[in-house]
Amino acid sequence: MRHIILITGAGKGIGKAIALEFAGHAVRNPEFRPVLLLSSRTAADLENAAAECRALGAEAVVMQADISDTAQATGLAETVIKRYGRIDCLVNNAGVGRFRPFCELTEEDFDYTIATNLKGTFFLTQKLFPVMERQRKGHIFFITSVAAEKAFKTSSLYSMTKFAQKGLVEALRLYARECGVRITNVMPGAVHTPMWGDVPEAMQALMMMPQDIAVPVVCSYFLPERASVEELVIRPVGGDINE
Ligand code: NAP
Repeated sequence: MRHIILITGAGKGIGKAIALEFAGHAVRNPEFRPVLLLSSRTAADLENAAAECRALGAEAVVMQADISDTAQATGLAETVIKRYGRIDCLVNNAGVGRFRPFCELTEEDFDYTIATNLKGTFFLTQKLFPVMERQRKGHIFFITSVAAEKAFKTSSLYSMTKFAQKGLVEALRLYARECGVRITNVMPGAVHTPMWGDVPEAMQALMMMPQDIAVPVVCSYFLPERASVEELVIRPVGGDINE
């Protein structure tokens, strides 16, 4: 069966790893035929990610969009609905962070972070959830963070958006439970991705890799539909870095 799967922030990092993990499942299980809709702002990254998915035999489609712009976020949802008429899985992964001491954060940092992590995620989900509601089937993952329930000193703004995402997840789940839709809040600790920029080797050794998040996400998707993994907390074995 074809599974229509939209992944935001799929050009690199955790989102790309999730796309590749879904593609890998298609190799192992020929009955699973995913259509991987890969979205982010940077077309070149998406083309590379799509090529890697196709090399594994999966269908991958590039859908460039900046979700911080509400028109683009809702336009992305409308394109998916118009083209495929359904959506089986939405991975709300696109996210940004500006990590600096509280008093150094600017209004531009605030608007930039809120626009993607909150506004974009909210309106994209708002357009796609009713489709799943009608299908009485679907799975939405939110890649939040351990910073959605634990504060770190330089993460005031980032944490604020992640705590808020957790609020959205929990409210949306109340609707989702009534129509057989599954909502999973994925809370990773430190993962070595481009989000961190250049990281010294000693620090890298304390971090997880993107596939460490992708594997449990995709496993959760394949559980029988009667079961829903509501939360995944995945930390480096040595605990959080930058306490
Ligand atoms: P990343 O490597 O920086 O990748 C982020 C992805 O989101 C990129 O593909 C980026 O592509 C896309 N993106 C950013 N802003 C966007 C926008 N406005 N519209 C569309 N796409 C946008 O980050 P990552 O570490 O993989 O993070 C993925 C998610 O996991 C984020 O929500 C992050 O908060 C969360 N997380 C990360 C960690 C970690 O330690 N890495 C830990 C916990 C949670 P473009 O820039 O091309 O748009």
